[in-house]
Formats: sequence, C-alpha cells, structure tokens
Amino acid sequence: MADKYALQLSGYKALWNAIDWVFPPKCVGCGAEGQQICPDCLQKIQYTSRDSCIYCGRSLPVRGICPRCRQHPPVYQEVRSLAGFEGVIREIVINLKYRSDLGLSLVAAEMMAGLVQRENWQLEMVVPVPLNEKRRKQRGYNQAAALAFPLSLLLKLPLRSKALIRIRDTKSQVHLNSAERKANVQGAFLADPLLVRGSRVLLVDDVYTTGATLNAAAEALCSAGCSDVRVVTLAKALDHHKEVEIATPNKV
Ligand SMILES: [Zn+2]
Ligand SMILES: [Zn+2]
Repeated sequence: MADKYALQLSGYKALWNAIDWVFPPKCVGCGAEGQQICPDCLQKIQYTSRDSCIYCGRSLPVRGICPRCRQHPPVYQEVRSLAGFEGVIREIVINLKYRSDLGLSLVAAEMMAGLVQRENWQLEMVVPVPLNEKRRKQRGYNQAAALAFPLSLLLKLPLRSKALIRIRDTKSQVHLNSAERKANVQGAFLADPLLVRGSRVLLVDDVYTTGATLNAAAEALCSAGCSDVRVVTLAKALDHHKEVEIATPNKV
C-alpha cells in the first residue's frame, strides 16, 4: 500500500514537472515565474515559535500551557502550526481552499512534514479534518485532505481519510465567537473505532483559528479509542485577528 502511494506521488510529481515545463509556475506570493514559492517569499514566512502553548499555540516565554488552556484543556495532546496566517502562507491557504493545486499542496506538506519531524511525535496514521458534505460538493475538494495526502507520504504513515467523518452539517464559523464555535461543532464528527482504536493519530487541517473544530474532531477520535491525538496545521490565525475570514471568490 505504501509503495502504491509512493508510486502515485512520483506519478503526480512527474505530471506536474511536465506541466511546469510547458507552463512555468508562478510564485503564490509575488507572481514571479519559475517556482511555486520563490526564495524571497520563502524567506519572509513568519514561522511560529516553539515557545508557545501546547494546546492553542499562543506565545509564551517557554513551551507550556497558557492560563486559558489550563482551565479548559482540549482533548488532543499537542498542536503545532507552521506559520502565522499572513503573507505567502495566507496565499497558500486561499489557493488550496479554492483551487486544487497539487504542486502547492506538496510544497506546503514538505514544510509541515519538517515541523512534525522536528517534534519527534510518535505517530501511526494521518487523518484530515473532513469538510461537511455540502461544502465538499460545492468545492469538489477538501483542502485538509489535499495537505494530508502528501504529508502522509512524506512521513511514511498511512492516510486514513475515512477514519473521521462529519455526521452533521455545521454553519460557517467565520462570524461566530469562541463559545458559539464550540457549540456549532460539538458532536459534528464521528470516528470509526475499527480504524483508529488504540492508535496515535496526526490530525491535519489548514488553519488553526480557535481550536474548536480540531477539538471536536479530536473528541470523536478519542471516543473511538485513539490513544493519542497530535494536531498539525499549515497556518495559525494571528492573535490580533479576531477571526480568519476568507471571502469566497466570485470565480472558483
Ligand atoms: Zn515570490
Ligand atoms: Zn493555550
């Protein structure tokens, strides 16, 4: 199975290399031709510090637990986000949300794989946060899964996309406060005990905002018997952002 995935990935890579040769890629940050992300834009990425809360990523003098999370700890063990939701990372998230760009998801997954490897987490499978069915149909595509697929290949872990499903549609979280978000996503997920019982899971999403969705997903995984849930996201909403708001472009 792992070989099949590896073959699939090299097939895609070859295809994308061929496409790149005919239509040179443009930098997602500045539009310069030649790469998905040019060296200048790569250098400007504001990576998050490890000196942060293990549960919400808020900045702390050393890695630990912030007062708020001490009072209301989530069920997952730890979260790491690669970078703040700004600049080129913001552009990647928006591009992944509305366009299926395999080249870009590979570049993003490579950066996320490096982050996960540095954490030295003991993991057994990769599970993306599922979109609700209505939105997936509209979009035709789940950006968390688009990141989780190459990430699983890079980490040499099985991808278990069917381990976690949404059992109820939820409202868009954009205009909800933290308590409303929690209520909105509570009980929205269901995990398959046959696929996850006793396992150490890497839960993958594109953006960490309040953690409500990720915690609800982790609750479902824990109810199904997961022994350990770690979370990785590409971006983290900046502390000064009240909400991460991504307007739907007119043309998708
Ligand atoms: Zn650039
Ligand atoms: Zn915290």
